[in-house]
Order: sequence, then C-alpha cells, then structure tokens
Amino acid sequence: MRLHLASGNAHKAEEFAALAAQVRLPLEIVSAREAGGMPDVTEDTGTFTGNARKKAQALRTKLPAGCWVLADDSGLCVDALDGGPGVESAYYAGPQGDGAANLRKLVRTMRGIPPERRGAHFVCVLLLLEGDGREHVFEGRCEGRLREEPAGGAGFGYDPLFVPAGRAQTFAELADADKNELSHRGRAWAQLVEWWRARS
Ligand code: IMP
Repeated sequence: MRLHLASGNAHKAEEFAALAAQVRLPLEIVSAREAGGMPDVTEDTGTFTGNARKKAQALRTKLPAGCWVLADDSGLCVDALDGGPGVESAYYAGPQGDGAANLRKLVRTMRGIPPERRGAHFVCVLLLLEGDGREHVFEGRCEGRLREEPAGGAGFGYDPLFVPAGRAQTFAELADADKNELSHRGRAWAQLVEWWRARS
C-alpha cells in the first residue's frame, strides 16, 4: 500500500521511510512531491489532530480518488512553558517556520531554568486517511528534558536540545535508528503498524 505523506518536511519523510523499511509490511511512504508538492496549510486548529487532519485533506485534494494519505502533526511541549510551544512548535520564532530560529528562541527562553524544571515531551499525531475517507488517529509521545545548550548535528528542529528519558545524548547526537526507536514519531508509527497487522 502506498501512503502519500502530507508533509513538505524532508527530514520527516526520511524518518517515515526508514520506519516503513524496518517493518516487513507492504507499506511505502510516497513523498508529497509526487502530487506536485505539499499544499500550504494554515495550522490553526489548536490541536495536533486537527492540524494533521487539515494537512491530510489538503494533500488528498491533489491526488487521484482512492489514494491513502498519511499526515503527521508534532511538536515539543515544555513543562516550564505550560506545554508550549506545543502545536505552535514549527512557528515558535515567527511565521516563516525557521527551525534554527525556533531553537535559538527556546535556548534563550529556558536560560537559567534549573534542571528540575527542564522536563519536556514530544508529541506526534499520525492521521491515516483510507482511500474511502475513513480516518484513523495514532499518538506517540517521548518524554525527556532540555539541555542548557544545543548538542549534536543530526536530526532537525529542537533535536539538539532534547535529551530523551534514560539517555545522556540529545536526539541530534543519536544515530537515526536510535532516535526512530525512541521518538514520538517512531511510537506513533508502531501503533499504526499494530493497527495494520490487526486488520490484515
Ligand atoms: P509540524 O511539521 O507542523 O508537525 O511541525 C512540527 C515542529 O515541531 C517542527 O517544525 C519542529 O520544530 C518540531 N518537531 C517535531 N518533531 C520533531 C523532532 O523529531 N525533532 C525536533 N523537532 C521536532
């Protein structure tokens, strides 16, 4: 089954392709490029699920009838910021969605906050639209804490600041396979795979 990924984020596409390659299932992640690119979507619903639904439906309008669409919406929820930036993670430092600027703003905002108040978690909601429009939602979460200063060059977004629970390294210091095993996206994907296996 080809799952058309409703995302223009190349890093996410790579992560999903790696996750799909790991499971022995006939699931192939297809880039939004095949449909001429991911349409612009205003992420204004205030929830991860609502935003994922908007992305899925936007891509669906560009695909032939019957195609399956996979959308994800994700973000970093910081305890000391009352769960922010959360659904606003992509636009934390401004509407241009600059990942490096978002990271710098979070480093600044968290400066001086003591270790016991640096808890955070990533959330990923995956929304699968079947060819006939039926919808399935899967949620993954990864608990951790924020470093004072970024470390590591891999990954994207807030990866250099986020240390997953039980590890000493940030997401940006981990090998791709390690991040995928622990991450919010990996966990949401594992649920989708479980659902897929149960239905086949
Ligand atoms: P989305 O594309 O609207 O889901 O935006 C999610 C935003 O959350 C991204 O732009 C990043 O800022 C952040 N984010 C989500 N997942 C990750 C991750 O795995 N690592 C680092 N940042 C992430």
